[in-house]
Amino acid sequence: MADLQSHVVMLPFPVQGHVKPMLMLAEVLCHAGFRISFVNTDHIHDIILGNIDKSSFLSQFPGFCFLSIPDGLSPEHPRDISSIIELFTSINSMGKIMFRDLIISLLRQEDLDDKETWQAPCCIIADGIMSLAIDVGEELEIPVITFRTYSATCTWVYFHLEKLIEQREIPVLEGNEDIDGLVTCIPELEKVLRRRDLPSICKCEIDHPTLKFFLEQTSKMKKASGLILNTFEDLEAPIIRQLHSIYSKVYTIGPLQALLKSQLAGSPPIAAPATGSLRQEDRTCISWLDRQPAKSVIYVSFGSVVVMSRDQILEFWHGLINSGKPFLWVIRPDLVFGDGLPEEIMCPTNERGYVVSWAPQVEVLAHCAVGGFLTHSGWNSTLESITVGLPMICWPLIVDQKVNSRCVSDIWRVGLDMKDSCDRSTVEKMVRVLMENQDEEIAKSTTKFANLAQKSVMEGGSSFCNINKLIEDIRSIQS
Ligand code: UDP
Repeated sequence: MADLQSHVVMLPFPVQGHVKPMLMLAEVLCHAGFRISFVNTDHIHDIILGNIDKSSFLSQFPGFCFLSIPDGLSPEHPRDISSIIELFTSINSMGKIMFRDLIISLLRQEDLDDKETWQAPCCIIADGIMSLAIDVGEELEIPVITFRTYSATCTWVYFHLEKLIEQREIPVLEGNEDIDGLVTCIPELEKVLRRRDLPSICKCEIDHPTLKFFLEQTSKMKKASGLILNTFEDLEAPIIRQLHSIYSKVYTIGPLQALLKSQLAGSPPIAAPATGSLRQEDRTCISWLDRQPAKSVIYVSFGSVVVMSRDQILEFWHGLINSGKPFLWVIRPDLVFGDGLPEEIMCPTNERGYVVSWAPQVEVLAHCAVGGFLTHSGWNSTLESITVGLPMICWPLIVDQKVNSRCVSDIWRVGLDMKDSCDRSTVEKMVRVLMENQDEEIAKSTTKFANLAQKSVMEGGSSFCNINKLIEDIRSIQS
């Protein structure tokens, strides 16, 4: 009889910033000897398999199996930020039925290729906003561990949505003179978090479906048997301690990209880990970076979902040009709403600026020519930047981004916050301050946190110990 290994089902929320960290965690677990059924929606499944060299990936991770379920939307339905609530709703209804059926068939071992070596799953690791897994886990009596892909700080803020409503902090009204006032009802954040920094759902009226959706998700998430976060102790220790009041098991295992690298070090280099990119990376920017002096380039990217106006993009463009610093800018085809890209930006490739529609971001951030990152403050981007000690300029817009940028600029001091303004003079000024190292505290803090991030994933470090704890805990479910 072949050796049977613990089998874990993993369920990400189907957008870039959620699939990527889940895939990295899956690779770490697979490397540790688990069998993984990675369940994407059909839409994401096709993209992922189109973007990786499947045979070489699977030869590196033979215990890995990609499965998929429908998300309930028609194939031509958009799956961008404009339709995110429809996606949430359809996954939690139609997707739930399909996921339940899939788990039942895995429990009966019907869908397993090789029943000799695959056993029925012992637990589900699901994204924090895929509460359908909590329902299915409860019904079928399988433990569910939740993986919230936000920072610990933002996760903690979400756990206070009800309190924020009670205290009439929701809805946050833009333009209100109290917008800079402190929010005092969230422990550990009383002195730092302003109304303007709250997640964007806090702008909703209290009976708004989006707010209701997140209230429900957050309350169901509490039923999970543990919480996984892509962060590390030395970055968010006071908040992580607070999260222990909700979960007896909190596994902070970040930065995942560094953890994955350290865990794979020393194993045969059959294939590189999957990048988790849902878009085709334009690698020509790496050759362009190779020709630039050390620490000279500002990298500009607003992640996978943010959209902006033509005017805003022009302000960034002029600010960057006026700063006199070389820049590498990710301009996705869907970044600008309305009339499309201004002409100036349509053919910008010259010695000073290079534009791509999608970059190999982790590699770019670690490139020696890059000296700063102008970002929308998505959590993955923020952590990727902290990991390599790159200072940031934050232009946060939606979801958790304002919480992250507040932490970056005022708690960790690893960057500057543009607040809500992106006029060209602000962009120019901030790029100069950052790239000319005018702020000594930022330079010191970025180095400090990069060292701590690396330490956390090395033997004896907090994330290293926590991933081992997670592995032991899952194995103990099996036995
Ligand atoms: N990313 C990338 N190439 C790009 C832009 C972004 O690979 O050109 C990756 C980036 O490394 C990060 C993810 O996309 O891991 C974006 O996640 P984040 O949480 O920062 O922002 P979101 O897209 O969710 O707003």
